[in-house]
Amino acid sequence: MNNYENSVAIIGAGISGLALGIFLKENNFPCVIFERSSKISEYGAGISISPNGKDVLEKLNILEELKAISGNSKKTIFYSNLKEITSIDTDVLTTSRKNLYDLLLKKYSSLGGEILFDYELKDIDIGKKQIYFANGISHHVKHIAACDGIKSKCRQICFKSEMPEYSGYSVWRAILDQKQADINFHLGPGFHIVSYPISNTKTSFVAAIKTKEKNEESWMLRGTYSDLSKDIPVEILNNFQALKNTQDIYKWGIYTRAKIESLYSTNLTLFGDAAHPITPFIG
Ligand SMILES: Cc1cc2nc3c(=O)[nH]c(=O)nc-3n(C[C@H](O)[C@H](O)[C@H](O)COP(=O)(O)OP(=O)(O)OC[C@H]3O[C@@H](n4cnc5c(N)ncnc54)[C@H](O)[C@@H]3O)c2cc1C
Repeated sequence: MNNYENSVAIIGAGISGLALGIFLKENNFPCVIFERSSKISEYGAGISISPNGKDVLEKLNILEELKAISGNSKKTIFYSNLKEITSIDTDVLTTSRKNLYDLLLKKYSSLGGEILFDYELKDIDIGKKQIYFANGISHHVKHIAACDGIKSKCRQICFKSEMPEYSGYSVWRAILDQKQADINFHLGPGFHIVSYPISNTKTSFVAAIKTKEKNEESWMLRGTYSDLSKDIPVEILNNFQALKNTQDIYKWGIYTRAKIESLYSTNLTLFGDAAHPITPFIG
């Protein structure tokens, strides 16, 4: 079995884990990623990347490659009751999470980066820098980088964290076989929709609604067009005809988590959603 005593142990092969892995490899810090899934997978969802995120991708040297396969809208248009109310110039890259993920993974692998799958972190002895996995294996490491996402186990173990609370908002999302040039917002009472191109042929649709119904905080929970049309006026949904032809409509509840006082403790640092478990509205 490999010895990782001199390595930074990155927990989670998501966007932050892979990005951190690339920075560490490029700067000759030994590291290894432990991922709970048995293979790389990424859900079908869009992601809009603001200038601060684009700066990071530029430093990772993958920005241009990502742009070439993404939506490159230059304008955001705001509508109310289907009437344009204003528009602004935009410097946001809109793409699919899969595109971003594939490029991060390709880069990390090209640097000789190592990922161990089926390694679900279960416990940490922070003083001894010992990490324990559900598969029965444990490792002594140099430092722990918690990149295990919004429901971070590392944060639960090492920081006093409170139970998440339902925010009063839930979100519908889908990727549509529909072409769109700009980023569009439809604003209404108790809802807003944001749609943007993620490629030349596909559009990301996200509708946030105010609802007391506590939907599960899950990426995998499917919904139906019929239920969606109870939450959003059909005249607006008619702009997104492809919604009627897809089974891949998802609904998830947005939860808030209390801020923590520090992003690191002895021997462990939080990154990504583990560090900043914010709602998508703030992002
Ligand atoms: C539907 C949706 C749309 C979004 N849209 C945007 C957007 O437009 N723009 C934007 O900037 N952000 C957006 N976000 C937020 C963005 O996706 C997250 O900020 C980002 O994915 C965080 O990356 P991460 O690597 O920290 O966590 P994740 O991407 O969640 O990765 C965590 C990884 O850790 C692994 N893991 C978890 N627990 C363990 C464990 N115990 N042991 C080992 N491995 C573990 C997971 O399997 C996963 O691979 C969106 C989020 C959602 C849900």
